[in-house]
Amino acid sequence: MILETFPVGPLQCNCTILGDEASGEAIVVDPGDEVGYINRRLTDLHLKLKQILLTHAHIDHVGGALKLKRLTGAPILLNEDDLPLLAMMETQAGWIGVETPETAPPDGALADGAVVGLERFPAEVLHTPGHSLGSVCLHFAPLKLLLAGDTLFAGSIGRTDLPGGNAAQIIESIHSRLLTLPDETHVLPGHGPETTIGVERRGNPFLRGRY
Ligand SMILES: [Zn+2]
Repeated sequence: MILETFPVGPLQCNCTILGDEASGEAIVVDPGDEVGYINRRLTDLHLKLKQILLTHAHIDHVGGALKLKRLTGAPILLNEDDLPLLAMMETQAGWIGVETPETAPPDGALADGAVVGLERFPAEVLHTPGHSLGSVCLHFAPLKLLLAGDTLFAGSIGRTDLPGGNAAQIIESIHSRLLTLPDETHVLPGHGPETTIGVERRGNPFLRGRY
């Protein structure tokens, strides 16, 4: 297995490449920016891109998706509850003062319960609204790995003050969908360092006082 996570763009969104050397296939999660680098890594690793998966439609996570699709031919998948957010790309670019990246409607939906990813490394889509309406996490159960987008961070949780955000909902999503995963599950958040479900269950100050 090949697993590379690296920050891209001005907001340092964590982009992840997951590849299978045996099949030569890969997925990319949240190619927010620096598509040239992402594509070069795929080429250097001799991987053919099978899917582009977006944890949600914020600009720092989706900004490079269409460019990467044009370079590789891979389809883009996004939860459909984030389509209104995707349509607001010019507004989003204004928030952070960057040029508006070109976007297009996704090729498929990341619906709750759907299985995506690679044949040897499949992921279940967990719909975890709260940071945005269509935020999802990707749970690679056999790998004990969760790609958490901007729902859960090491010691923190995603902001809920942007359109579609809901503070009560993100807490509910994390408790009902993420803290129910095994303690040893590695968590790769959409920003910042990695953590585990157990560490966050015990120590995340935003998740206290419920049990
Ligand atoms: Zn976000």
